Amino acid sequence: MAATYDAIVIGGGHNGLVAAAYLARAGARTVVLEGRHKTGGAATTESPWPDAPEFKVTRLSYVMSLMPPTIINDLKLASHGYTVYPMGPYYQAFPDGGSIKIFADDAKRNYDSVAQWSKNDAEVMPQWDAWLAGLADVLGPMLLTVPPNIGSRKPRDLIGTLRLAWRHRGLKVRTIADATRLMTMSIADLLDDWFESSQVKGALAVNGVIGTWAGPYEPGTAYVMAHHSIGDIGDGHLGNWGFPEGGMGAVADAIAAAAKAFGVEIKLNSPVSRVLVSGGHVAGVALDNGDEIKAETVVSTLHPRTAFLDQVGENNLPADFVSDIKHWKTRSGVVKINLALSELPNFTADPGTDLAEHHTGSVEMAPSMEFIERAFQDARDGKPAARPFSDGVIPTAFDKTLCPEGTHILSLFTQWVPADWNHEPHAAELEAFADRMIELYDEVAPNFKASILHRDVVGPYQMEHEYGLVGGNIFHGELSLEQLFHMRPAPGYADYRTPVAGLYYGSSATHAGGGVCGIPGWQAARAALADRKAGRSGRQQRQARPASSR
Ligand SMILES: Cc1cc2nc3c(=O)[nH]c(=O)nc-3n(C[C@H](O)[C@H](O)[C@H](O)COP(=O)(O)OP(=O)(O)OC[C@H]3O[C@@H](n4cnc5c(N)ncnc54)[C@H](O)[C@@H]3O)c2cc1C
Repeated sequence: MAATYDAIVIGGGHNGLVAAAYLARAGARTVVLEGRHKTGGAATTESPWPDAPEFKVTRLSYVMSLMPPTIINDLKLASHGYTVYPMGPYYQAFPDGGSIKIFADDAKRNYDSVAQWSKNDAEVMPQWDAWLAGLADVLGPMLLTVPPNIGSRKPRDLIGTLRLAWRHRGLKVRTIADATRLMTMSIADLLDDWFESSQVKGALAVNGVIGTWAGPYEPGTAYVMAHHSIGDIGDGHLGNWGFPEGGMGAVADAIAAAAKAFGVEIKLNSPVSRVLVSGGHVAGVALDNGDEIKAETVVSTLHPRTAFLDQVGENNLPADFVSDIKHWKTRSGVVKINLALSELPNFTADPGTDLAEHHTGSVEMAPSMEFIERAFQDARDGKPAARPFSDGVIPTAFDKTLCPEGTHILSLFTQWVPADWNHEPHAAELEAFADRMIELYDEVAPNFKASILHRDVVGPYQMEHEYGLVGGNIFHGELSLEQLFHMRPAPGYADYRTPVAGLYYGSSATHAGGGVCGIPGWQAARAALADRKAGRSGRQQRQARPASSR
């Protein structure tokens, strides 16, 4: 006899755990099926060095920002150990000397730091911050909005579209224009409109290219910057990012503990191979080992190619949907480098190995927009960047749980290697890439190389094959304009429902993903619960047509 539940959640990443917690909280007997030996997915804290288990790294994702207080409070995450330390400033030490710090919420100190490089930019900075805050007021709530099915003439969809338009009726011509700029411009062109110094522009451009297969001169990167700037770690400080105590794995652990407290069962080492569909309705799942588990509600949180093409199967899906998922863009060219250090970097521009403010935020290697662009052009030409850029952080500036006293962890989020490096491990080339990255930091902090005790380099192949991040994309799919809002993951299916009745979708490939925000999981559970309450079982199965490629 197959085991039966009210709801199955496929994938024990943070979104799967959030979905399960909400389903169980509403009374559904829920099981999470996770393929790996642990939950968390890309939110994971691990000890990658067997001979030094006392060092733990937040192996992939590294900072919190976008999780809304609703989820944090509903799941009582604080009582399950969720603690976040707000980050310090952006910091860049320049190879030619000097440094810059940019503070999220200290206008006076921002002025002093930026004025060293440009008085004009120092004066403009408060206006830039206010401009971004104004846009965040519009875009922030949009993250919690279920995208309407734009273009559909069905009464329910038309109401959704009209409701969205009504909610934004107060927007002024100017705000619409600014949002349009943000959606269509490159971060480089946008920053050129505001600032003059290459130091300031380099620092501000980083958020426009994080995790993105696009250099700062590509249209759409201005929006990526906004996505990374509208966050709120729950304390009302917009754009502030924070380090969770215990690394990102501790966030997933807190959600898992909340889910269990609501009665969720979590099965590890349980890879799902197929979603069972019968008469257009989901019936359960089959595991790799052949076991079947039945449920009338299934939430998948896997990459869309895995979830739909591999597990649901093209025969159970409409042709246009299959075509859209096949053309889903899922590149990043990201390499994560995790280092254990015997001491903090001693920057020539700001000497000292004692903990100082510039160690507490982003420790960047992105001295100018041109530097970042060069790294992208190398990768686009099919080579790993000769001089990669990095968004570095030292979580142990606050978090004492990750390594022995006196030592530190440095987490380097670096770009780019070629987009097709998900096909082969490229192990030796990744090590050489890491060497070059380390050299760049050593140029500005000459104790750096010698301070490295252990290193761990995770490239696109490992991200795909070990963590299920197809193509190595960090968000289950690029945040490019054609993959946002009502297009995420496919037009007509942005409401966390799928073409299969009873099957819901809540991975980072839906609206508000990516990032460790939990919103996709929360929305998928809400959609499932709303349908259960209304006696529906999700979207009525559309007329299934044979799949064809474009
Ligand atoms: C290098 C890197 C850095 C990042 N940095 C940040 C950051 O600093 N801040 C931030 O907010 N976001 C960051 N992100 C993005 C963020 O981590 C992801 O968007 C998010 O964690 C994805 O969560 P998810 O639950 O949607 O999917 P996942 O975390 O991918 O979870 C999916 C789960 O499904 C499991 N699974 C896969 N196949 C199967 C199967 N067949 N059967 C059962 N289970 C299966 C996987 O093992 C995994 O546990 C980063 C990502 C990466 C890769």
